[in-house]
Amino acid sequence: MSRTSRISVGSIEVISLTDGGAEFGAELFPNATEDELNTLIAAAGAEKIETNFNAFIVRNAGRTLLVDAGPRDMFGPTAGFLSDAMAEAGVAPEDVTDIFFTHLHPDHIAGAITAEGAAVFDKAEVKVSDIDHDFWKNGDFSDETLQQWAGLANMTLNAYGERVSTISGEAEIIPGVTMQMMPGHTPGHAGFRVDDGGQGFIHLGDMVHAEKIQLANPEISIAFDIDADTARATRKAGLDMVATDGLACSGGHMLRPTLGRLERSGDGYRFVTG
Ligand SMILES: [Zn+2]
Repeated sequence: MSRTSRISVGSIEVISLTDGGAEFGAELFPNATEDELNTLIAAAGAEKIETNFNAFIVRNAGRTLLVDAGPRDMFGPTAGFLSDAMAEAGVAPEDVTDIFFTHLHPDHIAGAITAEGAAVFDKAEVKVSDIDHDFWKNGDFSDETLQQWAGLANMTLNAYGERVSTISGEAEIIPGVTMQMMPGHTPGHAGFRVDDGGQGFIHLGDMVHAEKIQLANPEISIAFDIDADTARATRKAGLDMVATDGLACSGGHMLRPTLGRLERSGDGYRFVTG
């Protein structure tokens, strides 16, 4: 199977990489009933709630930026294929000059380190939003899962050591690529935007984890949102903006992570590609 899809935004090359996928159980959507979920799944012609783990490569101005690194072996045998996807894209680990983590959840960072905690990308400078960096570095977590996730976040930051820097607001990640804050999923959760030659592309981060559920009904939250109300407000405003402006978009968990657009459909949206 192909794990890559190439798009261009003006003269900037963007490659989506599919690391793998997984299924979500209904219990991960705490503010939806099982009936509501089943209706949305059936309306989408699907049988289960699927997700994908996506990374992106952006090349511009002599830089090769990797956005997110997938879950490595932490989410079972159906994911962890970042290196296969990168090989298909013709990008070697040592070619990566920059890494941007949309946030420091395990499914976005584990692929950047080995199981022993060593950096996979020897030459890369790492950028992450200051808010997410500080949350995972200095947070005081009583929840056991969050404690483990913070452990992995710090292991990843430590692996890259001095090569990690924090950025804020709409800072430039590499030329032509800016961070876009999308708070709620985590406090410093962010996507990115690529602009060139009058064209724009926005990566919506983890605004949507299960497109057949949450695009169709943006009110529905996923249990991984640290602040579900803020994440919902971010999702509703973000999706509305993308549909209104007709922007090309994708995201960290889209099932077909190629460039697409959002079409309004009922109370929600449909992701349209091609
Ligand atoms: Zn994620």
